[in-house]
Amino acid sequence: MADEFPFELSPMFEGERIRKDSVYIELAGPKSKGFELVRAAEMDEIEDGGFTLIGPDISEMAEGDRYPFAMIYRIAGSAVEPDLEAIVERRNHDFQNYVCGLMHLNQRYDIWLRISKDAVAKGLDSFESIAKATTMLFKNELPFIEKMDALYITDAEEIEKRLPDVKAIYETRDARTRDLHDEDVDTFYGCTLCQSFAPTNVCVVTPDRVSLCGAINWFDGRAAAKVDPEGPQFAIEKGECLDEMGGEYAGVNESAASLSQGEYSRIKLHSFFEYPHTSCGCFEVVGFYIPELDIIAWVDRDYAQPAPNGLTFANMAGQTGGGKQIVGFLGIGINYFRSPKFIAADGGWNRVGWMPKHLKDRVLDDIPGDIVDAIATEEDATDLDSLKAFLTEKNHPIVSEWKEKEAAKKKEKGAEEPGVPAAVAPEVMPAGISAVSLPAGFVGSTGSIGPGGGVRLILKNAKITIGQVIVKQDEGED
Ligand code: SF4
Repeated sequence: MADEFPFELSPMFEGERIRKDSVYIELAGPKSKGFELVRAAEMDEIEDGGFTLIGPDISEMAEGDRYPFAMIYRIAGSAVEPDLEAIVERRNHDFQNYVCGLMHLNQRYDIWLRISKDAVAKGLDSFESIAKATTMLFKNELPFIEKMDALYITDAEEIEKRLPDVKAIYETRDARTRDLHDEDVDTFYGCTLCQSFAPTNVCVVTPDRVSLCGAINWFDGRAAAKVDPEGPQFAIEKGECLDEMGGEYAGVNESAASLSQGEYSRIKLHSFFEYPHTSCGCFEVVGFYIPELDIIAWVDRDYAQPAPNGLTFANMAGQTGGGKQIVGFLGIGINYFRSPKFIAADGGWNRVGWMPKHLKDRVLDDIPGDIVDAIATEEDATDLDSLKAFLTEKNHPIVSEWKEKEAAKKKEKGAEEPGVPAAVAPEVMPAGISAVSLPAGFVGSTGSIGPGGGVRLILKNAKITIGQVIVKQDEGED
């Protein structure tokens, strides 16, 4: 099949990274605009294999430039229904990564693509060949699609004009699960689509927990498992509830153990610290623990500046992804903020101390009224000192925890330094965190807070390897 196209086409190219120096053009991404969308249509509305491009083609694009980019696919077939749109849409990521020299990241309006210099040198000069290859893969892999066409857009104005309607479609899909909860169903849905990038990642999609890419909710999982039971989305019988608050179920644990190749065997769906859900790398938002203040903060892809811990989304995404349970970091889909079970095991919204303003505004209606003003944004705090001052001034619920911990510490140790509370860092990490499991970012994030400042890390059963010891005379000494 590769002969039809000016590039190789194979699952072995999934996971191919195109680094900055090898990029011919970049499409959409955090510094531009774009989206991908699949819509169900009637059979007679579609000319099978049709392709339309609005805007310049690859051959008209300048090397090294960045362009807005949107892809709209229409699908039709006797089994095609609107419930399948999201799940088909998510496979675009999969199939486009089969193209050698094309890298596709993320989903919905966060898509980010790169085409390599090598691919263009070998003859990739038109989006039409990419669209044809993609639609061919869709039809081969998802036989319920009987007809399919593609519209690609590289014209900035056209994308801008369509974006509000496209976002409204995503919102409508997301709203469907609002009145359905984990306890109302016997079946959850799993997804292993991202195992090509994160081999041990298993997404568990429940009514109260949207996928971390944000593209698949419980209804989408159900529709996908029904129409393609051998595909990457499948049913998980939830089984006995082992921890209601944390969201731990026997059936989910069994699936996790087998699908992660034994990497882990317990998942608590609504816990940040204890047996957290894995993160593959497609998450819309990353949550991070700030040990100095004992709070959890969140940052999304659209916030490019460093968070109050001094790390950017990109820094922390690197720590979080890969399909492992990383205690202290958690990738989520934005819609999980709207869940009544949002990190329920760790205090829910009462444990949240900071998030970017645009993200807070987006989920404002879902933040409980008594905490909303006590959650800082970059307008209130950009580092740990200003964040601590803000939380104190707003009497954030964590402040009383600091006081209780401080009082307990004083009682334990007798008289403390006079007057000022010492560093607010917890003496030990919250349940489930062993200090050595904290990724490197934590160490770099330890600013000086309060007299004595810093964080006390307790290493348990740690092996410390020292490559070289240099002994130097202190120049201050005689
Ligand atoms: S992030 Fe999870 S739900 Fe989304 S495509 Fe990847 S594995 Fe599937």
